[in-house]
Amino acid sequence: MKYFYLDISALLVMLILFIVIYFKRMFRGDINRYFLLLLCVSILTTSADIWAIMLDNGDITGGLMSRYLSHSLYLFMHSATTPVFILYCSAITDSWVTGKNKFVKKAIFWLPLSVIYVMLLLNATLHNMFYIDEAGKYVRGPVFIAFYIIAVIYIVYGLLKVFSCWHIFDLGRWLALFSGIGFMVIAMVVQFFYPGLRVEMFAGALALLFMLMMVQKPEEMIDIETGLLTLTAFKNLMFRSEKRNKLKKIIVFSATNYQKTHAKYTYEQEIVLGRGIAQIMNSYTELFKERADVYHLGSGRFAIVVKADEPSVNVVKVAKQLNEILDKPFTLENSEAHFEPNTCVIQFPKDIPDADTLVHFIEDLSSNGKTDGIVFARDIFKQERYDILTEIDDILEDAIKNKKFKVYYQPIYSVDEKCFRTAEALIRLYDDKYGFIPPSLFIPAAERSGAILRIGEIVLEQVCEFISSEEYKKLGLHYIEVNLSVVQCMDDGMVGNIMEMFDKYHIRTTDINLEITETAVSDSQEIMDRNINNLFNEGVCFSLDDFGTGYSNMHRIASLPLSIIKIDKSIVDDAGKASMQIVIENTVKMIKALGMKIVVEGVETERQLNQFISLRCDYIQGYYFSKPLPKEDFVTFLLDKAS
Ligand code: C2E
Ligand code: CA
Ligand code: CA
Repeated sequence: MKYFYLDISALLVMLILFIVIYFKRMFRGDINRYFLLLLCVSILTTSADIWAIMLDNGDITGGLMSRYLSHSLYLFMHSATTPVFILYCSAITDSWVTGKNKFVKKAIFWLPLSVIYVMLLLNATLHNMFYIDEAGKYVRGPVFIAFYIIAVIYIVYGLLKVFSCWHIFDLGRWLALFSGIGFMVIAMVVQFFYPGLRVEMFAGALALLFMLMMVQKPEEMIDIETGLLTLTAFKNLMFRSEKRNKLKKIIVFSATNYQKTHAKYTYEQEIVLGRGIAQIMNSYTELFKERADVYHLGSGRFAIVVKADEPSVNVVKVAKQLNEILDKPFTLENSEAHFEPNTCVIQFPKDIPDADTLVHFIEDLSSNGKTDGIVFARDIFKQERYDILTEIDDILEDAIKNKKFKVYYQPIYSVDEKCFRTAEALIRLYDDKYGFIPPSLFIPAAERSGAILRIGEIVLEQVCEFISSEEYKKLGLHYIEVNLSVVQCMDDGMVGNIMEMFDKYHIRTTDINLEITETAVSDSQEIMDRNINNLFNEGVCFSLDDFGTGYSNMHRIASLPLSIIKIDKSIVDDAGKASMQIVIENTVKMIKALGMKIVVEGVETERQLNQFISLRCDYIQGYYFSKPLPKEDFVTFLLDKAS
C-alpha cells in the first residue's frame, strides 16, 4: 500500500509557491527562472506520483498502459530534479560551465540523465527498471538502483559546486541550500527503504519553500512596482561576477534630471513612468541572443545586464538606440516626461575593478550631467575619485579630528554701491594623500554619514571667529553668506547651536546670512520650516541658493522668509542664448516683485556682468571678480580694492 497524502500536501505547498512567484513577478534573472523550472519539474513529478499511486491502489481505474505511463512519467520528471537543482545552484553562484569545450562539458553534465532516459525508454520492452507483475503489483526491476546512483552523482556534484563557491554565500544562503539538500537526501533514504511512505516530494516542497524565503528573498530581489530586479539583486550579481571574474556588459540609463522631475510627480505617476521605462528597456533585451536582464536601481537609474559570454551581442548599438528613444519627451497615461539621460556602457569587471566601486560609479553618473549620445566607463572612470569615495568616511573623520577644514571666502560685488559688501564662505579640505578634495565629492558623503553636522559647526565657528576679529571690521562688509545643508536644516538642535555660536563670539544675527538650496526646501518639512522661522524671528536672514536648478515651486518659495535669491551659474551660462533672454528677464522681475534681492552666481565674463547689471540685479559673484580665497588673501584682496 502506498500513501499519497504527503504528495497531496507537497502539491499544495508547491502551488502556493507558484502563486507567490506569479504575484511577486519573480520571473527575471537566471536565479528566478531556474527556481521556477525547479518548481515546475517538482509539481509534475508530484502529480505523476499521485497519478501512479492512485492507479496502483486502484483508487482510479486504468489499463496497464496508463500504469506504465504514470510510473515512467514520475521517474522521468523525478530524475530531472537534481540536475535542475544544480542549474539553480549554478545560477546562484554564477558558475555554469565556462571556458573552452563548453559543448563537451555540457554534454558530460547531461550524460547521466540521458542514460536514465534511455533506460526508461527501453524499460517498455526490457522491464528491467520496473514492471507490473501478473497480480497487478508494481515491482522495482534489477536496474532500478541506477536511478538512485545517478541522483547521488548529481547531488555530490551539486554539493561540490556549492562548496567551491563558499566565499560568495552568507550564512542564511548556506543554511538554506544545505538544509535543502539535506532534506532531500534524508527523504530519499527513507523512501528507498519504505517506498510506500512517499516523503520525498514533501521534503522537496519544504526545501523549495525554505529556499524561496532565504535565497530568493522576493522582497529584496524584485521591485514589485516595475517587476524588474532590484539594486540588491544587481549588487549580488556583480559581487559574484567580481569574485569569479566573469565578464558582464552593462548599459546604465540614468535620468540626470531625476531630482528635478521627481518632485513634480505623484507617487502613482512615478510608478506609471517607472513601468514605462521598464517596458522600453525590456523590449530591448529581446534583441540579445544571450540572456539579458533589466534592473531598476532606484533614483531614476536602470540597467541592462548582458552576459558577455558570446561576442554576438552588440551592446553599443543597443545602448545608442535606447539613449535616442529615452532622450525624447514621452507621455504615459497623462504624465509627461522628458529625461536628460546619461547612458553609459560598462564592461565589468574589466573597466571597473570591484562591485562596490561599480555601484558608486553608477550612483555618481548623474552628477556628470546629460550625455550627448552614450559614454563608456573605460573613458570616464577615474580610479582616484572612487578611492576617495571608498575612504571618505575615514578621511572626513580624520579631517574633523585634525582640524583640516579651512573656510575660503569669495567676494560678492554690490552693483549699487560699486564695491564688495559681502562674501560667501566655502569650505575646503586638503588631504595629505589626495590633495584638495572638492566639496561636491565630500559634502554628499558627509550628509549621508551625518558628519555634515560637525562640519557645519566647524564652518560656522571659523566664520564667527573671523567676523569677531579686528581685521574683519576694517573690510566694510555687511554680512557673510554661510551654506547650510538640508541635513542641518532637519536637525532639532540647529537653532540652539547657531545661537550659541553667535553668543560665544559676540556677533549679531545680522552678521550672517544662511544659504539653503532650492532642492532642500522644495518639500515642506515641519522641522525645517520651524528651524528656518525660529532663526528668522531671531533676526537671521536667508538666501535661496542654486535658484533655477530645481523644480521651482514659487508658491513655496514665496512662503519662506527669504531675503535673497541666488541665480545659479547654469542660468548665467544660458543667458547668452536669445531664447533665454525673456525667461531670465521675467524671472528677475518676479523675484523683485516678491521684494527679494538677487545675487547672480558664476559670472565669469564682462559680457555676463554687463548683462546682469543692465537687468538691475543687486549682487554679482564669480570668477570675474575673484575665486574663493583663503582668509588672509581675501582680506588683502578687499583692502587692495578699497585703496
Ligand atoms: P554653491 O553654494 O553653489 O557654491 C558656489 C560654487 O561655485 C563654489 O564651488 C564656487 O567656488 C563656485 N564658483 C563661484 N564662482 C564661480 C565661477 O565664476 N565659475 C565657476 N565655474 N564656479 C564658480 P565650491 O566651493 O566647489 O562648492 C561647491 C558646493 O559645495 C557649493 O555650491 C555648496 O553647495 C557646497 N559647499 C561649499 N561649502 C560648503 C559648506 O561650508 N557647507 C555646505 N553645507 N555646503 C558647502
Ligand atoms: Ca552657496
Ligand atoms: Ca549656488
